[in-house]
Amino acid sequence: TDRSQIVNFGPGPSALPDAVLDEAAKGLLNYQGTGIGITELSHRSKEFGALVKRLESSIREQLNVPSSHSILFTQGGGSGQFSAVVLNLLARHRLLYPDLSNDDRVMDYVVTGSWSKKALEEAKRLGGGRVNVVVDGRQSSKDGKSFDNIPSYDRWSISPNPAFIYYCENETVDGVQFSSDPTSHQAFPHHLIHNPSTTCLVADFSSSFMSRPIPYLANHALIYAGAQKNIGPSGLTILIIRQDLLVDTDAAAKLGANPVPYTMAYKTLSDNNSLYNTPPMFSIYVAALVLEQLKAKGSLQYLEKVNREKAGLLYATLQEGERRGIVKIKVKEGSRSWMNVTFEILGGTEKEFLEGAEQRGFRQLKGHRSVGGIRVSLYNAITLEQVQRLAEYLHEFYESV
Ligand code: PLP
Repeated sequence: TDRSQIVNFGPGPSALPDAVLDEAAKGLLNYQGTGIGITELSHRSKEFGALVKRLESSIREQLNVPSSHSILFTQGGGSGQFSAVVLNLLARHRLLYPDLSNDDRVMDYVVTGSWSKKALEEAKRLGGGRVNVVVDGRQSSKDGKSFDNIPSYDRWSISPNPAFIYYCENETVDGVQFSSDPTSHQAFPHHLIHNPSTTCLVADFSSSFMSRPIPYLANHALIYAGAQKNIGPSGLTILIIRQDLLVDTDAAAKLGANPVPYTMAYKTLSDNNSLYNTPPMFSIYVAALVLEQLKAKGSLQYLEKVNREKAGLLYATLQEGERRGIVKIKVKEGSRSWMNVTFEILGGTEKEFLEGAEQRGFRQLKGHRSVGGIRVSLYNAITLEQVQRLAEYLHEFYESV
């Protein structure tokens, strides 16, 4: 099958623009005329050092990252950060408050879907502090057991002085996304964000990173994302981290905190300019190319417009199907993701829908095995025209059942 006949709506790793892959193929063979491929260069070479800087400045510029925050690159994916966040931030808390008991070191988790739930479980498993569930989206769901909404802020219970507050901006499996700045609401205790010596807001942006601007980014102590949804191949994890989080974890361990593996300690990554150990060089290269191409098109303002149109068209088409009783959008209005659109087939069968989709070249539309149904992922490489083709197919399907 030719690549041009396929639309890959996969949840990740996701499709990448052909133009970037063509360019990357050249660099794999011969990077910038060095006669050596990008993955064969030394990661300590001046060429590779310059590439890391290029990627960093693309992110800094396009996301408007303030000078209070560093940009770091590492491996281990989103799941690696489930662990690293706990270890580093409890170490920091230990340095600030050495005499507290572990029961008084509280980690606040906002649970709005499968990924934040997984992060919560890792926090419980690693220990060193007590976990508080700020809110659990299942409690305000239509059926009492699914993640289908961002709970209203009057249901949130944030601890008085937590070591950190954690949330997942876009829940890839469930299709639940924050529609606005979670910290803008009055119910969110502002002293907790704006006073770095107290607490830290941490967000998993794995599946929405670089899909639209984050105007409230500076309210976060840490934002992290795996590259494999919107900007590159898997293997690369990006951290945007406020500098007061770069603490000496060995000093914290002497005071009783859990020791932090070197490859996970934020200060180690920072002290070594993200080159403590060999980084995922090819992923860094492709991510740099993707973001440079994006800049040429108009950066995140451009993407925000396109991604809004893509999601708007698909949800409008699904709403029509809902009125006709043929499909059901899973997530409540106001919490629907732009990136992962989840729905169920009520008229006709899911099998028929997927077979018709397959014939038209649409791939990876099956929902995550844990929740079933259909999931359409609309990451940056998916074009409006491709979504229009999917919408046409949905209309045909509505007529056929
Ligand atoms: N967080 C979110 C929101 C995700 O979508 C994923 C993966 O899909 C992860 C974390 C886990 O990422 P990784 O597979 O890179 O560990």
